[in-house]
Amino acid sequence: PYDGPSAADIARKRAEYLSPSLFHFYSKPLNIVEGKRQYLYDEHGRRYLDAFAGIATVCCGHCHPDVVDAITRQAKRLQHSTVLYLNHVIADFAEALASKLPGDLKVVFFTNSGTEANELAILMARLYTGSHDIISLRNSYHGNAAGTMGATAQKNWKFNVIQSGVHHAVNPDPYRGAFGSDAEKYVRDVQEIIEFGTTGQVAGFISEAIQGVGGIVEVSPGYLPLAYDKVRKAGGLCIADEVQAGFARVGSHFWGFETHGVVPDIVTMAKGIGNGIPLGAVVTTPEVAQVLTRRCYFNTFGGNPLCTAGGLAVLEVLEKERLQENAFVVGSYLKDRLRGLQEKHEIIGDVRGTGFMLGIELVTDRQLKTPAKDEICHAMEYMKDMGVLVGKGGFYGNVFRITPPLCFTKEDADFFVEVMDIALSKL
Ligand code: PMP
Repeated sequence: PYDGPSAADIARKRAEYLSPSLFHFYSKPLNIVEGKRQYLYDEHGRRYLDAFAGIATVCCGHCHPDVVDAITRQAKRLQHSTVLYLNHVIADFAEALASKLPGDLKVVFFTNSGTEANELAILMARLYTGSHDIISLRNSYHGNAAGTMGATAQKNWKFNVIQSGVHHAVNPDPYRGAFGSDAEKYVRDVQEIIEFGTTGQVAGFISEAIQGVGGIVEVSPGYLPLAYDKVRKAGGLCIADEVQAGFARVGSHFWGFETHGVVPDIVTMAKGIGNGIPLGAVVTTPEVAQVLTRRCYFNTFGGNPLCTAGGLAVLEVLEKERLQENAFVVGSYLKDRLRGLQEKHEIIGDVRGTGFMLGIELVTDRQLKTPAKDEICHAMEYMKDMGVLVGKGGFYGNVFRITPPLCFTKEDADFFVEVMDIALSKL
């Protein structure tokens, strides 16, 4: 039983001592004290089915014993920066991680977050090409430091950073985009940015395969190969941001970019890589990696033994428990059932996504696609009361984000759909 401070006490301390910019889900925020597999528990021992997994962070399941064991064993043996000495943990994990990537993507740089990974990727693209301009997609999220905030293209997440050579291309959004799913029309904008907004040479292009924060928007089929081609012809490198879609979440493949049949020059990752511990990585080719030998690239905790021991355990669990297959099978089943809900509930404008990266966009008018911003908050509240936690996002904040731990079962999917059905009926 939990004998810690009450939710009210924590809320008071949080209001007094933590950033005033923090926000929380639910009118009465939950006090989560424990996690196990696909469940979270509050201070009263009430169990919640977790369909958001800490923003697609937990992949193996909360507090997976193998991952906890690996971290605990390592914590007792050695925990410090291993940048200046040899240690096998970082090398073993780098080797295992590189084996999951196609082609010549074999050199790993470890970071502590997705933001750092994308900052580093953009830096490498600029150094390698000698160009400065970066193209990112509207509605994307790439991080919250100066460069990545520039690459992020949603006002909700932008402060007045200097854009510094970042251009935002029209988002190839099949649901809301001006050209539907017509990849060729969208890609013209990439070409025009290159022609009208740069010297004709660019440093690179960065994109998620499925926009997470942006509301589970799968970029139009066929778009990434065409965009990569335009960017490469302009001398740029292609960066795949796999912070949310990576690590088996999309089910059909290990990486989101693979669903588009492209091979990037640089891949960035975080979140799922560590099942909840602070860890990120950039993987690139030996040739691109060389650029960082021009000066010292130093990161005190990037690749520290504690986190990399955890990361290695995550890869082993994904394999051992065939979680990618589960994401594919159960994710496809869940998506079908959600499509069924769409037939019943007029408010569901769109059901989309792949594997365990699914989105449901709520609209008050299917024709006009009017975002149902208040309704989604009520529905989330009802679902929480019935024991299900789900995320939300999108430019208008009207998209359910369903990104459960990859051990989510068919029974969980049924329960989720039942609860969502009741919640939407109550609106
Ligand atoms: N890229 C994507 C696609 C993300 O979703 C996020 C985080 N939401 C980031 C980068 C930044 O990661 P972090 O919060 O670990 O810095």
